Amino acid sequence: MLITLKEAANRLKAADKILITAHVQPDGDAIGSTLAAMLMLRSIGKTAQIYVDDIARKNLQALPHFEEIRRPKDGEKFDADLLLVLDTSTDRIGNVRKLTDAPILNIDHHVTNKGGDGDLYLEPAAAATCEIVFKLADELDAPITPDVATCLYTGLATDTGFFQFSNTRAETLFAASELIRCGVSPNFISEELERKSLAEVMGLRAALNSLKMYYGDKVAVMTIDHATAKTFDSTEGFIDEIRVIDTVDVAFLITEKAPNFCRVSMRSKGVDVSKIAAKLGGGGHLRAAGCTLKTTLAEAERLLVAAIGEAL
Ligand code: 5GP
Ligand code: MN
Repeated sequence: MLITLKEAANRLKAADKILITAHVQPDGDAIGSTLAAMLMLRSIGKTAQIYVDDIARKNLQALPHFEEIRRPKDGEKFDADLLLVLDTSTDRIGNVRKLTDAPILNIDHHVTNKGGDGDLYLEPAAAATCEIVFKLADELDAPITPDVATCLYTGLATDTGFFQFSNTRAETLFAASELIRCGVSPNFISEELERKSLAEVMGLRAALNSLKMYYGDKVAVMTIDHATAKTFDSTEGFIDEIRVIDTVDVAFLITEKAPNFCRVSMRSKGVDVSKIAAKLGGGGHLRAAGCTLKTTLAEAERLLVAAIGEAL
């Protein structure tokens, strides 16, 4: 059921033990929003614990309280009276679903979130889930400490490409401004997030070498094979290197995470890539979306090129 932010806050106020989670392949918004929510809920007297069924990229580990995030173990249970699912629909949280049968409160900004599993506060115009959690602090009367602010600012920054993408709106910059007032150091966050290992930069070189152009250079595709992919932990930012090509409307990055398991990132300047991703079992936003294809790298590329051909 769709609910308002005030109703979402009331669900949280009525609960005592809250299990918080976000999507697998967690990004800055997933980790930032869960950490901020955990700290805010604790500060108003709740028991709150984060579980995420994946490993986050190293750069996010500098966030305050990151070390408290747990990964569910086989057969593990967690005693909760509410499951708070942030930054994703409830079908992308892996084995966290098995930890509890508690009712679900879902807070998200992905236009592809169809809800149907518990209560949903959906705000597709929000640049990041962190932008929503920032407003939630007010509803909960929870203080925005410097640690909370750091986590929230990280999600705003990562989901907007440091306030450059079209999802950046007045509310986003208002939230960022308030968060700086609450103690954020923007340079600390950007320096942590931009750091790359040598293997990652070499991976970017290999990815750029694989670049192929389709449909009169409107579509750019980069691939990373498994042997290269396993030498580093994140491809964050790679796709931006080809998205900027002046003729490009749609860019794809296909990463072979394991044999017959390809992660796809999509970026667009016009075409609605969330529709293409949803058709292939994924989701996302108008200009940034993704999916997983259980095929070889070559087959994944063929599927994507065919799908985008229909959309152009
Ligand atoms: P990225 O390319 O940065 O991994 O993802 C871009 C956007 O698409 C993010 O908002 C991300 O949450 C969403 N997204 C990526 N992969 C998937 C997927 O497999 N399923 C869904 N529902 N959303 C995805
Ligand atoms: Mn997000």
